[in-house]
Amino acid sequence: MSQRLTPLEIMTKLISFPTVSRDTNLPLIDWVEDYMVSHGITAHRWPDPDQPHKAALFAHVGPVEKGAIVLSGHTDVVPVDGQPWDSDPFTVTERDGKYFGRGTCDMKGFDALAIWALVEAQHRGIKRPLQLALSFDEEVGCTGAPPMIVAMQDVLPKGSAVVVGEPSMMQAVTGHKGGFGFDTHVVGYEVHSSIMHTGVNAVMSAAPLIDWANQRNARNMAAQPMGVAAMFDPPWTTCHVGMIEGGTAHNITAKDCRFMMDFRTVPGEVPEIWREAYLDQVREVEAQMQAVHPEARIDVTEKFAVPALQPENGGEAETLVRTLTGDNATHVVSYGTEAGQFQEAGYSAVICGPGDIAQAHQPNEFITVEQFNAGHEFMERLLDRLVE
Ligand SMILES: [Zn+2]
Repeated sequence: MSQRLTPLEIMTKLISFPTVSRDTNLPLIDWVEDYMVSHGITAHRWPDPDQPHKAALFAHVGPVEKGAIVLSGHTDVVPVDGQPWDSDPFTVTERDGKYFGRGTCDMKGFDALAIWALVEAQHRGIKRPLQLALSFDEEVGCTGAPPMIVAMQDVLPKGSAVVVGEPSMMQAVTGHKGGFGFDTHVVGYEVHSSIMHTGVNAVMSAAPLIDWANQRNARNMAAQPMGVAAMFDPPWTTCHVGMIEGGTAHNITAKDCRFMMDFRTVPGEVPEIWREAYLDQVREVEAQMQAVHPEARIDVTEKFAVPALQPENGGEAETLVRTLTGDNATHVVSYGTEAGQFQEAGYSAVICGPGDIAQAHQPNEFITVEQFNAGHEFMERLLDRLVE
């Protein structure tokens, strides 16, 4: 039986693996698996068939039965390229009451606490099961969790309440917006601009699609927010174009124009309606283009889709976290997380983790010692409940 590490020792180890989303996370997964196994816990890995250098990992401790509490985190971190760091990002450095390092806040601090809690649960003996779920590729569109969630239900008894430990200052965050985005490629037909009526200008054909987003935003902003939507800032679904490129010269009708359109939907709104509304608009513009030249077209590729987290109002995960933290206020966030994906798969889900999202992705990312300790106390209280 190997040594039981402290949460700080585990975090230090996790941070030492530079698991930037584009790179491998296998050394980290290997280490966690070995550590679990050395304490008699069976860890299951889900290797991504499309990316052999990545894997998720999940484990179960306690009675082999349904209804576990699931502690969930992602193992990937955002890059440090071009960021001015005062210390090595992959070495935990303590100064001024803060632990610095890439992922201390988002979210290897929580991962470390979750791993610690599982090993403690194994040694203390618990009456209700506890599970760990570590994903990858969260930072590149939450694409790693959905297959992991399917895989863990095949192997482990299904858990019931999931705590996703994204930094929330240990508050219970019960709702977030959903998000999905499209790459749109408008393919026109090139002619000299003096006879533009015989060509199809991709840039000018993209314009009404982008203006459609402007009009929808204006309409959404003017509408009275309904239900849960009113909790968000802004309290409406946003349509956003963050990138565009197209055209080759001022006197050539542009052959190509590409832009990225993202939607952030408030919980309760069906993303499919937005998807259809946009695609209807695309088909309308495409028909106008093809009336001029049959080769003109618009290709739309969906890039990512993350479901919203719907507040459950008295749901199991929320109730658990409120009991453990004493936080009874209502908190929602506008960024997407894996909590919406767990909820979509039939789990009760809540976000609660140490640290402030404002420090995530920053140079000199840190978690305060105080927040890390608050996370530790949360896990102690959780274990106290599970042994009862
Ligand atoms: Zn995160």
